[in-house]
Amino acid sequence: MTAFKKIVVIGAGTMGSGIAAHLANSKRDVVLLDLKGKGSPNEISERAIDIIKKSDPPLLVEKSRLEYIKPGNLTDDFDQIKDADWIIEAVVERIDIKHQLYAQIDKVRNSSSIVSSNTSTIPLSVLTSEMSETMKSDFCITHFFNPVRFMRLLEIVETPGVNAVKMSSLRDFCKNELGKGIVNCNDTPGFIGNRIGVYAMQVAMYEALDRGLPVEIADALFGRPLGIPKTGVFGLYDLIGIDLMKDVLASFKKELQPEDPFMEVVKPHPVVEALLEKGYTGNKGPGGFYETKVVDGDEMSKRSRPRI
Ligand code: NAD
Repeated sequence: MTAFKKIVVIGAGTMGSGIAAHLANSKRDVVLLDLKGKGSPNEISERAIDIIKKSDPPLLVEKSRLEYIKPGNLTDDFDQIKDADWIIEAVVERIDIKHQLYAQIDKVRNSSSIVSSNTSTIPLSVLTSEMSETMKSDFCITHFFNPVRFMRLLEIVETPGVNAVKMSSLRDFCKNELGKGIVNCNDTPGFIGNRIGVYAMQVAMYEALDRGLPVEIADALFGRPLGIPKTGVFGLYDLIGIDLMKDVLASFKKELQPEDPFMEVVKPHPVVEALLEKGYTGNKGPGGFYETKVVDGDEMSKRSRPRI
């Protein structure tokens, strides 16, 4: 039975920071690693920790839990993986980057550890295609949803040859200590949530933009009235990250059959391309479909109004 005393999260973006915060909620030691900064070495993970501190709604159950998270970078602190019980990969949705990282992790991790990916779309068979047999048996997908503290769903994908004892410990931990409701998924692109949810978002976005419906009206309709969170479709795009959605769609396009109805809406809409060209990546950046406005210099008082 693994105690999950030390967990290394790789990727300090939207999801990595949310996962790190929620692990800290369960009083586990977390090391949050990202690329080495151009200014100070840990600037990316330090910025992520600062965002966790100021998050609203708060990702931490209490601010003091922040002390469980230590920042680091992949160049100087990769050795932190040596004594980690669980290594969670939450880097950009790019298979080349993920493959390269898994090869590095395999060389350093200890044999009792388990490794998982937070990928939104990439099948397990693709993630593990270049992996050693030993690492494959210690690897699975743990797909947390955003925001991690509040979204109960956790999708897990595992291969038949996986170490059953480790998987059982992982499931117990996620269920009992992280409070997640686990859904076991088949190894298909986008699993269950995103296969349905991203398709629905794309259809709603194309319908709204092509009919000239203002984004706030579309969100008011494609939100609570349909039993969907009030972010609707455009607010959700901003929350997920418009850049990430582009990678997610590219990944779906690569993995799905050409005759799949998803292919009709898999292309990023020209409005999305225009926003990205100007650097509007969503809430993690300077806003996206909605403008974010800091009131009186106070980050916590962000207000949104439609940009388009
Ligand atoms: P993000 O863009 O917010 O963060 C990605 C992080 O990866 C960044 O901090 C970046 O510096 C780092 N990175 C980039 N290149 C790297 C490299 N070569 N090596 C190591 N790190 C590198 O992305 P995100 O939204 O946090 O998504 C991370 C993963 O989680 C993806 O696989 C995504 O599909 C998945 N996911 C995202 C959401 C969501 O709502 N955003 C939800 C569920 C799953």
